[in-house]
Amino acid sequence: MAAKAAAFKRSSAVAVRNPKLQQTLHHVVRHFTEARDAAVASEFPPETWEQMRERASSIKLQTLLNLDFYLDMVDRNVRRNGGHVHFAADAAEANRIVLDIAKRNAVKRVIKSKSMVSEEMRLNPTLEAEGIVPVETDLGEYIIQLAKETPFHIIAPAMHKTRQDVSRLFQDWLRSAPTDDIKTLCAIARNALRQQFATADMGVSGANFVVAETGTVVLVTNEGNGRMTTSVPRVHVALAGMERVIPAIEDVALFLRLLPRSATGQRITSYNSFISGPRRASDEDGPEEFHLVLVDNGRLNLLKDERLREALKCIRCGACLNVCPVYQKTGGHAYGWVYPGPIGAIVTPAMNGFARGADLPFASTLCGACKDVCPVKIDIPKLLLDLRPEAARRTGTWAERLLMRRWVDMMRARESLERSSRLARLMQRPLSREGVIRRSRLPLLAAWTQARDFPAVAEKSFARRWRDGLSRAEP
Ligand code: SF4
Repeated sequence: MAAKAAAFKRSSAVAVRNPKLQQTLHHVVRHFTEARDAAVASEFPPETWEQMRERASSIKLQTLLNLDFYLDMVDRNVRRNGGHVHFAADAAEANRIVLDIAKRNAVKRVIKSKSMVSEEMRLNPTLEAEGIVPVETDLGEYIIQLAKETPFHIIAPAMHKTRQDVSRLFQDWLRSAPTDDIKTLCAIARNALRQQFATADMGVSGANFVVAETGTVVLVTNEGNGRMTTSVPRVHVALAGMERVIPAIEDVALFLRLLPRSATGQRITSYNSFISGPRRASDEDGPEEFHLVLVDNGRLNLLKDERLREALKCIRCGACLNVCPVYQKTGGHAYGWVYPGPIGAIVTPAMNGFARGADLPFASTLCGACKDVCPVKIDIPKLLLDLRPEAARRTGTWAERLLMRRWVDMMRARESLERSSRLARLMQRPLSREGVIRRSRLPLLAAWTQARDFPAVAEKSFARRWRDGLSRAEP
């Protein structure tokens, strides 16, 4: 399927021309990167941090290479704990499963803690279409739900909203008094959400990790909403991408060190919940039913691809977004799907068979900053390069493809290179000044020279200068 070539280009152009957004991005992203760098540098010698990354990378890769074995183990252990496991091939099936559970339990209101998989599924509109009210309870997610937007960042979904924006939303939706005091805004949201927690029939959460040997869902949050979501309502449904599995409970400690430091610069997140099934007879609280929905939605295709499967190691810390010079200017919405930034530029086209985001592999300078900070050592620039040939095939115009074919032919033979160079020298004469072409209106040059000069073909090629005596020149 031909993908729209210029989707990212168009939406990023809008973002970079928005001064308010640029200011917010500059401020928040700098805060995240400084906090991450300080947490890593002050607590560990560099070699220890490297060893931790190496170990985490290897655990994730080994799990992925034996995913069927570990998924089977998850299934057995969740069921042994009294829970139910469902496998969903795609977003539609995952939605059907959640809806079935909701209908069986006569659910009217669902509270949700943050789940990127539920964003992939577009679970909220699906529930709403069936008359079920979904309420996001992570503060950032709550804000964007009121604003009817999608997350702007993996870990900070509303980072593009100023306190004034949030105040206006709360005035419109919660009838609150105007204020730009952050504590007051938090109190307004907390009051509104308390009522939702108390009256919800079902809680839907994500899962940061799913431990195979114990059938445990590990949830990492900073606001306590995750714990309320998973323990107050009668039914708890945890949604997890299949790649979220890790083998053993002892592996969790390593990931709980890497994840918060890489994400927010915290030593540990405020709430780390370990959920192994529904409430037991001896428990004081907890849900009567527990369901784990393991979602494929393109992940198994990624797993089959030897070059790209590394992307499934991602633990969604967001560090690669914060250091990316492209994300720092465009923000998250320009990427057009759930996962923005460098990792989004890989998983969006790869999980969607290039039906989405076919131009995203080019949304990178390949500077390598993402690779340096990734806690599971994903070689993001290499994966982007691996995706580019296919992306070019999907997005390039016929003129670009023809030009590239000619370019390859030309570079293969010296005579044709020299012939083409002579022709280019002749053609560039009216356009070039002092060795560069500025502001050309010619179709293929115009896009390039809008923002930077194009180097003109040298008057004498290197080969000619070599033949003319460069080889005998003094060193
Ligand atoms: S690719 Fe690495 S740095 Fe980026 S979100 Fe995933 S784990 Fe974090």
